[in-house]
Amino acid sequence: MKSATKYVCPLCKSENIELKDYKIRDNKNDLRILKCKKCSMVFLSSFEHINQNFYKKGLMHSYSFNPQNWLNNSKEDDLRRFNLLKNEAKNKKVLDFGCGAGGFLLLMKNVCSIKGVESQESLEDFYKSNNLDVFSSIDEIKEKFDIITMFHVLEHLKEPEKIIEKLLNLLNEKGEIIIEVPNEDDILLSLYKCKPFADFTHWSCHLFCYNKKTLKKFFSKMNVKINYIKSIQRYGLANHLYWLIKGQKGGHLRWKYLNNYDFIYKKIPPLLNKSDTLIISISK
Ligand SMILES: [Zn+2]
Repeated sequence: MKSATKYVCPLCKSENIELKDYKIRDNKNDLRILKCKKCSMVFLSSFEHINQNFYKKGLMHSYSFNPQNWLNNSKEDDLRRFNLLKNEAKNKKVLDFGCGAGGFLLLMKNVCSIKGVESQESLEDFYKSNNLDVFSSIDEIKEKFDIITMFHVLEHLKEPEKIIEKLLNLLNEKGEIIIEVPNEDDILLSLYKCKPFADFTHWSCHLFCYNKKTLKKFFSKMNVKINYIKSIQRYGLANHLYWLIKGQKGGHLRWKYLNNYDFIYKKIPPLLNKSDTLIISISK
């Protein structure tokens, strides 16, 4: 086993690093999950498996990839994000970085001017047939935007500072960047200590796993203004009980009768700072 002492925290440069005993979902045996004991940043032991072609060729997905399935899977999140931003974005120019199948774009184009950025080549025809304006690279963009969104992308980036710098350059003076990430302090990990969930949620594409503290530290170091950090709970009681009892995902689809209690249950994790999702808003 490799010694943990050779690793350095990418956020605070501490060498006080612990090896977590979590498995990685897609089973890359040589990868380890590391946690900085000083600042609590969680990160993978190597980023070498992610190269330029990785997202271009859609290697993040399983072989049965199709855009319609992706849209169906992201429907609830697309709608939640649309409801969060529809008033603020009205008649503004919006860019969604890492727009995936474009579900958020399809909803938002009714209220604002919206474009996307997505490197996955196989989606180009899908964008064309849905009349979506999507750049294949951030470097092609020659215009500015009022709002830039980034949903579950930051944790995939090898060099997140570089991308954020580029996005800040594409932002109008009074503009705002809104970033959503999974929370490493998710109640299933930090309170319930659910090992099957830990072994599932960590995968080779999540190079960094942020919590509220490390997210704040990351953006403070970049000298941007932090407008807010919100705690959002996507999954409810059925999902959590299923993880704890059966050790498997999908409880919200199987034990639907428990969803009636979610209006109360989903309030608890954010109150404890242990929600499954974080949203941060930053400005120049
Ligand atoms: Zn650290």
